[in-house]
This record gives sequence, C-alpha cells and structure tokens, in this order.
Amino acid sequence: MSASDTATTERDDTLTSVNPATGEVLATYRIDDEDAVQAAVVKARTAAATWGTLSYDERKKHLLRWASKLVEKSDEFCELIHAENGKPRDDAYLELMLALEHITWAAKNAEKVLKPKKVSPGALMANFAAYLEQRPLGVIGVIGPWNYPVYTPNGSIAYALAAGNAVVFKPSEFSTGIGNFFTTAFTEANPGLPDGVFTTVNGYGVTGAALVRSGVDKIAFTGSTATGKKIMAAASDTLTPVLLECGGKDAVIVAADGDIKAAADAVAWGATGNSGQTCAGVERVYVDKSVAPEFIAEVKRILTDVKPGSDDKAAYGPMTMPSQIDIVRRHIEDALKNGGKAVLGGVESIKGPFIEPVVIVDADESSEAVTEETFGPTVTIRTVEGIDEAVRLTNANKYGLGSAVYSRKHGLEIARRLKVGATSVNSVLGFAAISALPFGGVGDSGIGRIHGAPGMLEFSRPHSIAVQRFTIPGMALLSYSRTDSTMKLLRKLVPLLHGRHK
Ligand code: NAD
Repeated sequence: MSASDTATTERDDTLTSVNPATGEVLATYRIDDEDAVQAAVVKARTAAATWGTLSYDERKKHLLRWASKLVEKSDEFCELIHAENGKPRDDAYLELMLALEHITWAAKNAEKVLKPKKVSPGALMANFAAYLEQRPLGVIGVIGPWNYPVYTPNGSIAYALAAGNAVVFKPSEFSTGIGNFFTTAFTEANPGLPDGVFTTVNGYGVTGAALVRSGVDKIAFTGSTATGKKIMAAASDTLTPVLLECGGKDAVIVAADGDIKAAADAVAWGATGNSGQTCAGVERVYVDKSVAPEFIAEVKRILTDVKPGSDDKAAYGPMTMPSQIDIVRRHIEDALKNGGKAVLGGVESIKGPFIEPVVIVDADESSEAVTEETFGPTVTIRTVEGIDEAVRLTNANKYGLGSAVYSRKHGLEIARRLKVGATSVNSVLGFAAISALPFGGVGDSGIGRIHGAPGMLEFSRPHSIAVQRFTIPGMALLSYSRTDSTMKLLRKLVPLLHGRHK
C-alpha cells in the first residue's frame, strides 16, 4: 500500500489534514517543494556543525528537556494524535510514553555506545595503538508513516540526534500536524540551540522524494515496502545510505503447551489494536491442533465485545487511510474464497471508516490475507500438526519483522528458529517496548535497525585511527625498506600465529 497514492485533500501547494473519523478539516499546511527541502537541509547542515560538536552530556540535557516538554504538553499532544490519526486518547498516550522511553534511552546511552574505544592492534602491528571512534553522519532525512506517527519516526529521530546529527523530518501527509508538534516541542524546550537541529518539511511523497535527493547523509525511512524500494533506488544515484523499516506479516505460534487464555488475549489485542494498523501487529496465527478449538473459541469470545469508534469507550479508532479499507475488504473476500471460514465477522464488518474485528480460520496459505500485509483489524488462524509446520509456515512469508511464540517450556527454542527481526515469547510486541532491543526486519520488512545500540550505530560512521607509537628495527612491513630478513622472520611468525590449528 502507499499513502502517497491516496492523499487527503490536495491543492497545488497545500495539504489539508482531516480527522479520519469525522472528515472534519483540522489544518492546512504549505507543501515544501524541492527548493524548500534544499533550504531546510542547508540550515540543518549549519546547525549540525554546532550540535555535532556538543559533548554527549550537553546533548543529553537538550534531549531530556525535550522529553519533559512533551510530558508538559501531553494532553494537547494526545488530543491532536486522537484527532488526526483517529486512535483512542489512551493509545495516543501509550505511544507517547514509548517514544519518551526511547528519547531517554538514546540520550543516556549515546556516550556508552559511541565513545572512542581502544582496540587490540594484533601481534604483527604491536607497535601501533588502534582507536575505533564513531562520528556523526551530519544531516539525517527521516521519512515517517502515519500509523504510529510519533513512536515510529522517533526511533530514528531521537537516536540520530543523540549521535550528534541534525534531522530533517518529513512526516506522513496523514500526520503532518503531529509531526510538526513533535518538532516544535524540541525547539520550545531548547530555545538556545541554532535553528535547524531538528526541523520538519511537509508534503506528500514528492516532498519525501526531494529529501532523498537533497544530499542528506542518510535516509531513515519507515513506511510501506513499495515506497522503501523506490527510495532505495533513488538513493542509489548519490550512494546515500538508507535505513528501511517497512511492512510486516507477523505470525504468532501457539504451541500445545502454551497458555491458551493468555495467547488468545494477546492475539485479540495484537491483531485489532490501532485498527490492525501496526507494522508488527498480529496478522497470522499458527496453533497446534490439540489446542486449536479452545484457542479459536477464546479469541472469538474476546473479540465479540471489542468495538471500534471515536468515543472514550472505543477499543480502537477508524482506519486512518481511506484506501486501506479496500485492501482489507479484498483480503477478507480472497480468504473466504480460498477455504477460509469466518468465525467472527466478514465483509459486513466494514462500516464506514470503522472495521469491526474479523477472524478467519484455515484460509489457504496462498490467499492474500496470509501472504500480504492486510493492515486492518483482521487475523487468520491456521491449525497445524505441530511446531515444525508452524515454523515452516512462519518462515515462508516474504516479510520477517516481528513474531511471537506461546509455549510454557519451549518458547526460546522455537523463537530461535524464526527468520525475523524480533520475537516476543509469551507476549506480543514486548520487544518494541524495550529500548535496548533493536527493531527492524529481514526480507521485505526492510534493511537496518532502529533502537538500542545497533540503532544508534546506524547514525554514525566508524572512523578507524592507527597510531604508530615506535618503529621495530627490521620490521618495516609497510615500506620499501623492508628487508629479506624481515620476510624470513615473517615466514616463521605467520605459521606460529595462524598455522597451528589442524
Ligand atoms: P507509505 O510508504 O505510503 O508512506 C510512508 C512515507 O513515505 C510518507 O511520509 C510518504 O509521504 C512518503 N513517501 C511516499 N512516496 C515517497 C517517495 N517516492 N519518496 C520518498 N518518500 C515517499 O507508508 P504509510 O502508509 O505511511 O505507512 C504504513 C506502512 O508503514 C505499512 O506498510 C507499515 O507496515 C509500515 N510501517 C513499518 C514500521 C517498521 O518499523 N517496520 C513501522 C510503522 C509502519
């Protein structure tokens, strides 16, 4: 799917933000064209020269002040997230809380991850001192999606800033107000910083494409796989490195010894929370045949009472992007045509911008509801003969983002067999709330990682420094003054160092 195909309301130079539940116009923004994007990047590059040379401690203080400003403005911010994205206010608060955890983790751990390290030069270079140092890249272009409009881009933004880079952020056209609020809070919290440490450019895919071509030092993209591929192709012109956080089709494996009630509870929430619009949401379940009837009945029981809406009692909100509703409908129809049986809901569950939960059992593995990202409050459940089959089917998908395993005794063992970026054992999405754990996928789910130490390293370049401290007479290896006796000595040393393992 692609948000850029399905803009809200577009005039030549403006973008209109609309409440997805009511259609109410919330605000209008000027679209940043190629020149405006260039100007933002130039300003960011100037700001990076100051920001990048601050000490880790100074940057930490600025980032923590930003976090505190977001807490101070959290009521206003959550109201805006609710209005522009549609998700319930409590879910907005939860999303903000997770983003704050990451800002704080990045601020407090940047020095530990990035500080210069002295490494061993090895026996043959013993007269050298070797230093591995990390430098900021410069300016990072961050392009974000709308489904978690704060948490998701923040996984790049907070870590890039903590590593000493300036950031130019292009929020999704469906969450422009949220993106600008996030940036403004940074500026308000840090009035003494130069303009451009963290700024926003607004617009549709065209503005994002201009950011890719703008000469930034890295693009950190979160969004659909289709857009990720376009960005990687465009970035190849300038060899601009890319971090791609793309779609998913996450599976949950429920083993015979799993806690069935806990698994059903987690699947019900993981599949429908945020209207199913979660990159690492639950889309497929493989359940052992010995516990399948009990598990399916429990999922159905829980979801029968789960209703979408925009009032305070609603479990989740509307579909944020209107075009996604057609994809959800197509996947339900295709699953039902290909052997699937709806045990809860069906196409009739689609009611305007809201979709009630849909549970489909035993659809063919080749149906679109099993192979493609649905991104709606639906889930397919397949009964399997045992763990080997569950692992094989989980790994057969082109996506490999998150996953979960429910098993009392074999959770870790099963998790280690999965070809994915992350797995929660006896929970869903647990990995996404632990700041130290990197997040990202394999295959069509993307390239690179956000969060944790690997997510920090994404926004720095290693700089290797080798210092010759003294010369060893007769051992000038990297010189024309090398002698025959040096080579004789080397021919004795090398077998001792590397030739003893038979
Ligand atoms: P999308 O690909 O339509 O849009 C994402 C962003 O890319 C938007 O800001 C859009 O304006 C921009 N864009 C569009 N075309 C562009 C181009 N040619 N060049 C540069 N930028 C361009 O995705 P979406 O609908 O906003 O987000 C939903 C998708 O994001 C889902 O597939 C979901 O799984 C994925 N997602 C992944 C993660 C993750 O961490 N892996 C997290 C959240 C969402």
